[in-house]
Amino acid sequence: MIGGIKGLSKEELKEKIKQDFQRKIISLFAIDPKEATTYQQYLALGEVIKEYSFERWLQTNKYYKQNDVKQVYYFSIEFLLGKLLVNNLINLGIRDVCREALSELGITLEDIEEAEREPGLGNGGLGRLAACFLDSMASMGLAGHGNGIRYRYGLFEQKIQNGYQVEVPDNWLSEEYVWEVKRSDRACIVKFGGTVRFDIVDGKLKAFHENYEPVWAIPYDIPIIGYGCNTVNTLRLWSAEPFENVFDFASFSRGDYIKAVEYRYMVQSITQVLYPDDTNEQNRILRLKQEYFFVSAGVQSIIRSFKKRGKPIYELPNYVMIQINDTHPALVIPELMRILIDEEGLPWENAWDITTKTVAYTNHTIMVEALEKWPIDMVKTLLPRIYTIIEEINRRFCSEMLERTGGDWQKVCNMAIIHDGQINMAHLAVIGSSSVNGVSKLHTEILKNEVLKCFYTLYPEKFNNKTNGITHRRWLVEANPDLARLISETLQTDRWIKEPMLMLRFKDFAEDKLTQELVANIKFNNKVKLAKYIKEKYNIIVDPRSIFDVQAKRLHAYKRQLLNALHILHLYNMLKENSSLDIYPRTFIFAAKAAPGYILAKKIIKLINSIAEKVNKDPDVKDKLKVVFLENYCVSLAEKIIPAADVSEQISTASKEASGTGNMKFMMNGAITIGTLDGANVEIKEAVGDENIVIFGLLAEEVLDYYKNGGYSSSQLYQKDLRIRRLIDQLIGNFFDVPSGEFMDIYNHLITYNDEYFVLKDFDSYHEAQMKIDKLYRDTKRWRKMMIINIGASGIFSSDNTIQKYADEIWHIKRVEIPD
Ligand SMILES: *Cc1c(COP(=O)(O)O)cnc(C)c1O
Repeated sequence: MIGGIKGLSKEELKEKIKQDFQRKIISLFAIDPKEATTYQQYLALGEVIKEYSFERWLQTNKYYKQNDVKQVYYFSIEFLLGKLLVNNLINLGIRDVCREALSELGITLEDIEEAEREPGLGNGGLGRLAACFLDSMASMGLAGHGNGIRYRYGLFEQKIQNGYQVEVPDNWLSEEYVWEVKRSDRACIVKFGGTVRFDIVDGKLKAFHENYEPVWAIPYDIPIIGYGCNTVNTLRLWSAEPFENVFDFASFSRGDYIKAVEYRYMVQSITQVLYPDDTNEQNRILRLKQEYFFVSAGVQSIIRSFKKRGKPIYELPNYVMIQINDTHPALVIPELMRILIDEEGLPWENAWDITTKTVAYTNHTIMVEALEKWPIDMVKTLLPRIYTIIEEINRRFCSEMLERTGGDWQKVCNMAIIHDGQINMAHLAVIGSSSVNGVSKLHTEILKNEVLKCFYTLYPEKFNNKTNGITHRRWLVEANPDLARLISETLQTDRWIKEPMLMLRFKDFAEDKLTQELVANIKFNNKVKLAKYIKEKYNIIVDPRSIFDVQAKRLHAYKRQLLNALHILHLYNMLKENSSLDIYPRTFIFAAKAAPGYILAKKIIKLINSIAEKVNKDPDVKDKLKVVFLENYCVSLAEKIIPAADVSEQISTASKEASGTGNMKFMMNGAITIGTLDGANVEIKEAVGDENIVIFGLLAEEVLDYYKNGGYSSSQLYQKDLRIRRLIDQLIGNFFDVPSGEFMDIYNHLITYNDEYFVLKDFDSYHEAQMKIDKLYRDTKRWRKMMIINIGASGIFSSDNTIQKYADEIWHIKRVEIPD
């Protein structure tokens, strides 16, 4: 180990970095430091910086132990961390000295930072939220850790070929991952399959799980370094490894070679790949294995370290809290019950009391197709003991409900965990936890009044809202350093990096001419940078003086990239009819991955690229319209795109986007939102005021009313609205140079199946909103004022605020200061 950096002067630290870095290159690669490639330099610098965090990491864990600090564990099947080198340098407060040290060696720090490969261990919003929360918890001095899966392959890399999405496996572990530490000594055993036998032991009924297949869960820990404090928390990611002496187990006949190989293959498959669908993988046994695997290992390791404290087990909820990020980790409930009953010997009632007090559940979606349900037979076969526990939870819940409702079977069935041959994971999560939260005000209201209404009536005290947030340290300090510097200079302090509500004072400078100009210059420079990237990567020239209008997020019908695309086509049609039409030049930028099996989403990608091809090569519209699709949307690409955006497209069908966090990142970087009153857009509007956001479209209640009572016909709109008719006809005619029938799925979605997400219904209102954007942008002063208000108000959406509410209202934990 390289040793600490505590108490060194700046000069000493610089010398130390130079020495440690060069020695590390030699010890890792046995080459002269001058010969190292940029990637080798990255690996060496990463190792050095990681080791610099170790003394704080040890110190933090020691402090937690000695002071019996209550620990929060954030269970999430995804953590979308992004690159860590810059982040860790900033949070350790040594980026500038490190830059100087390297420059004395003739090396540019930014080149090394660029060389890092990001681990794609998440699909999008949900995984990124988990990563933002880790940063906030550590930076605020809260004892909060992550628990998840170390996937061998992350989310696929997206390439666009001939306008189509092509998926390439993300072999991110082909090179060493610098930021992790393998901890074989903390391994756990997770048991799959087998049978359960009940027997009376000492007068008590006891369960015996037999003939199972054991799997090693090996933890890899990543230090999560807090900003401006000594806290270093832990993200623990589990990897599945085969049991070497498995032949000692009765289920395997000695020397059955084929079976042994099959077993190894089965085990390795568990943590092999991240499911590339951001809604739900229906009924895939491997996904269920993943869920139980990281849950069981996580709970076992929590109980193991709790027991080392020597406290009685019924004290668990006073020292441990488990927050589950959606229902993917909902098996913590039966798993904790299993450990408390089978291993700790507690009676059911006590185990249940402890479990419900320890677990809290965050709901992320109201979309029916995204709510997790598992077939009974699958759970029974794969997790026989867990199944018996779920069955008993369900039995007790249903009999209590039957009594309460005076025998209303229908109602009991609607609320049951097990119904119609399936296990409803959201019901399990609500019943087995002490807190249920939605992720924006609107979403929480919809949960209480529609989706989980019965449960809200039963347990009103469990329901609460925690609007999502984003870490302003990554999404502003790191991604937009010039803007961060301007905020510090304007406020004459950088305390806002620790206390984001101070950012609101930036709003006071909205009318200040100098601030307006400086903000506009920073935006322009960021646009120049992005334009350069686009030119180098795609050989497309975009004008940084045009409006950069960006929609960057997963591709999903409800997010309505299709509305944006059809509207661009409409602008094109208008320009073709009247080439002197006065529209302000715009560059439309898209970035979006589609789940590989999501056919409609992939067709929409092809449509966007087809429109781009048409528009970009047409000399008639050359100066007015450009369309660019950037491949492989991921955290690092988001950090390039978002600081350069003028307009933020947040146009989901109202009621469908639980919160959104992209919307917050864009506003924080001075983009103006064009959006529906959906998710956190509603709260963004409250924060900036009606005149600093452009809202359009149906309201959530109107959408829900159409779903319930009907009354919308997209084909009528097609008949009546000539603009829409023309667009639809272009889709299925020979306007585009594509195989015939290429966009039939889109046509059917919009017309044959009556436009489930109201794309055509909102078209007119969206067009009006876009014209309003056009007009606002021309009013330079007004636009700059809007930018400053958006940037200042975004402090509200720092995940520090979100986490403070979780800490106060759900976890009941306080900040601690780790001493030097
Ligand atoms: C923030 C983020 C998302 C979520 O974006 P939404 O607009 O809220 O859907 C998805 N992917 C990446 C890489 C992100 O950084």
